[in-house]
Parts: sequence; structure tokens; C-alpha cells
Amino acid sequence: MIQQSIYFRNFILITFLIVLTSCQDYNELIENEKHHNTDEMLAVLDRIHQRCSDITHIYDLPLKSVENRPLRVIVFSDHPKYHELLEPEFKYVGNMHGNEVTGRELLLRLAEYLCQEYRNDNEEIKNLIENTRIHLLPSMNPDGWEAAVQYAWNHTKSGQFKDISTMLKESGTTDWIAGRSNANNIDLNRNFPNLDEFMYEYKHNANYRNNHLDIEAFLSLLVGNDCQNNSYQIETLAATFWILKKPFVLSANLHNGALVANYPYDDSENHRRMYSSSPDDPLFQLLAESYSSTHKTMQSQQKSCDTDVFPEGITNGAAWYPVCGGMQDFNYLASNCFELTFELGCKKFPPGKELPSLWNDNKKSLINFMWQTHLGIKGLILNEEDDMIYDATIKVNRLINNDWEYIDHDVTSNIEGDYYRLLIDGTYAIQVISPGYEIQTQYVHVHNKPNQKSAKRLDFILQRKSTRRVNLEQIFRKFFKMVRSSLFPSLSLKYFLLFFSINY
Ligand SMILES: [Zn+2]
Repeated sequence: MIQQSIYFRNFILITFLIVLTSCQDYNELIENEKHHNTDEMLAVLDRIHQRCSDITHIYDLPLKSVENRPLRVIVFSDHPKYHELLEPEFKYVGNMHGNEVTGRELLLRLAEYLCQEYRNDNEEIKNLIENTRIHLLPSMNPDGWEAAVQYAWNHTKSGQFKDISTMLKESGTTDWIAGRSNANNIDLNRNFPNLDEFMYEYKHNANYRNNHLDIEAFLSLLVGNDCQNNSYQIETLAATFWILKKPFVLSANLHNGALVANYPYDDSENHRRMYSSSPDDPLFQLLAESYSSTHKTMQSQQKSCDTDVFPEGITNGAAWYPVCGGMQDFNYLASNCFELTFELGCKKFPPGKELPSLWNDNKKSLINFMWQTHLGIKGLILNEEDDMIYDATIKVNRLINNDWEYIDHDVTSNIEGDYYRLLIDGTYAIQVISPGYEIQTQYVHVHNKPNQKSAKRLDFILQRKSTRRVNLEQIFRKFFKMVRSSLFPSLSLKYFLLFFSINY
């Protein structure tokens, strides 16, 4: 009997200890009402990585901030270290404005949540992580964060709070500007190459382009300054190369100061305040609403921040106020990535004690928005020998009232030959073009379902053009080049005819 009661007591004790240690484990990762300084933020990311090492990977952007702080990213995926064929990549960027901090803290909580729920076998989170590669950059401007906090501490009555951590928990910071910019006092969200300007200029030319303006981006970085005539900053350069290099499909940039989901374009021709729609306007509206409609208050607000009222909790960027040199339009115009900007609340640096309710307001929308990475179509572009074709152009035409309407924003295939095209529901003709291959068109009906694990698969196997056809095209290209570059088109024509008359 005594023996049995000892066993029973030990059983209760061990069970209690297991429960206690697992609870401690959970709490250790992050403190609910705390604002994390840079060192604490990096430590949280490390702890999450240690806890979930099989589904996370940590890396830094190639350059550090002006004050030498790392721009650290945590990745979630079932194969977190590399791009998996046909698995789309997603990113969240927080704290680009150093004193706008909700995104920074929510991304830490999101990372903890993804890690913990994956371990808890939460089916939705497992599906999301196994089918998406998710990059979280909690702070793009850690120097600004430190400056905002130092400014607030220096302007706090002595003795009001026992330390900085208590000040942040009880009152956050309240200055509207201090810490917004980087350590060189440059606003990073005005510091990206102004690709809108190229796009509007090209609009008046025959060879209009509004995508993959990467050469224009490099040229701007090499020779120019930003819209406000400031030099390009190290944080901007780091983010620029990140955007150009990684095969991101969808992204959001998290800010504070309003409560709204903002979508491209952020700028208009001549920088006027007006609705400035991109060719993907209906898609961007849907993406913005995917966030606002699942947020606790974004759609129900009544003039919440002394700014405009936003129907449905969404706005076109330039219709609200034009932004020149912003990161959102840069993503869309330079890469395959579609980015939106979410303003997560009126207070820029809310008291830490409000963070749990902010997490509660945004949790569902943060998850729901990541699912949108799987809208539309995706697939492989191969040749008949099964080689992947890099940089093929994917053109989209949508059937509207029995007419095919070109959505004038092409995407391209990645280095491994996979491509992703976010699309709203509809019937489409998808055309794939790659030099040396016959153009191929396929028709597809897109019907997106909530939380679908994959976009609709649509592969293309391209046939090589005959050598004669390739040569003829080359000849015509040369001719047009001569005409374009010549002051004497008639002379070019003469040379061309001479050139063409030679029998091969
Ligand atoms: Zn901002």
C-alpha cells in the first residue's frame, strides 16, 4: 500500500514537473508586454530557432545598419535553408521606420506562434509552413528604434519610471518623428530607387515596361540620389539586393500611425495625390482586404486616427498620399514580388502593455495574408529535354466580357525554372515567351479557395524554334537596332537590304 502511494505521488510529481517545464519553455521565448531592444530581439530569434531548429533558419542581410546592427531574418519552412521547387516565398518586414514598432513586436510573436503551433501539430500552421517559405525581418531599422527609445528616455521626468524597460511597457514613446529615420537621418521609405519615374516615362514610349526594372534600379543606385536628393542608405541597399535576389512572391511592410491596408501604386505621375492604379489593381484590392477583413478593427473603424476614413479598411497608396521612393512600389516594379503596406495602429510606439491586444487584433490577419501567397497559378517552364528555363516571361490575359484583356505586368521564371503568378478568380490565357523557343499559350480557369495549399499548377514545355527562324529574328532585331540608333534610317534600310540579300 505504502509502495503504491509512493508510486502515485511520484507520478503526480513527475507529471507536474513536465507540465511546469513545458510552460516555462513556452514563456521563456518571449515576454508578452515587453518591447525588445536589439540584443533582446536577436536573443528571442535565437531561442525560437533553437526551439524549432528543424523548421527555422536564421540569416542576416548582407549589410549591417549604419550603427553596425545586424538586419536579421528568421525563415520558416519544412526546408528552411533553401528554395524548394514550386514552393512560393513570402516576407514580412517590420520597423522600417524606427519609431513604428508594432510590426517588430508582432513579428517576434508571430515567429514564436509559428514555432509553437507547428510543435503542437496545429494543422493549419503545419500546412502553411510545409507549403510556404516564410521570411520575417522584424526590424529593418534597428538604429531608429534605439534612437526613438533614447529620445523618449531623455525626455522623461527623472524618477517617473525605474528603467527604460518599464517606461516602454507603461507608456511606449510618444514623439511622432524621433527615431523614424535611420542613423543618418534619412527616411528609408523614401530612399528606394524611384522606379515609378521610369515606369511613367516608359508609358509614353512604344516599349512600355512596368516590371523587372532591375537595370534601372542598378543605374539609379550607381549614379543617383533618392527622390529627396539623399544618398542611398546601407539599410536600403541591403533590402534592395534582398528583394532582387530572393524569389519572393508576396510581401508586406508593417508600419504605424494609421489603421489601413495600403496597396500600389504609392506614387503617381507628377507625384500628385490621386488614385494611381497598377495593372493588378483588383488583385491588390483583394490582397489588402484579405488583411483588413480578418483584422479585429481595421474595417470597422470610425475615423480612428484623426486621418481619413478608409472604406473596407484599405486604400490605394497615392490616393491617400503620394510616396516617392517607397519600398512597396520598388518590389512590384523591380521583381516578381507583390508588396503591400499595412499600418497597424494610430500609436506609433504603443505601450508594451497594449501588445497582447495588438497581437490579438492582428494574429488572424497576419496568418491569413501569408495564405494569399498561394493564389493564382504556378508551375515549371521546361524545354523538351527537361531543362529548366530561367527568365522566361509569363504574360497574362484575362477574359472579360468575351474579350481578352492583357494584364500589363509580366512575371518571370526563377533560376530553377519555377514561376508564380498571383491571380484573382477568372479565366486566363497564359503566354510564355523565352528567346529561342516558340511562344506557348495555355488557357486556365482560376478558382481560389480559402487557405488553399497550392496555386493551380500549370507547366509549360517549350519547343525550340528552328535555326532558320532564330536567324531571321536575329536579322530583324539587328535591323531595328540600326534604325533606332541611326540618324539616317534610309541608310540603315539600304545596309539592311544589302545584309539581307546575302545568300547564306
Ligand atoms: Zn511608417
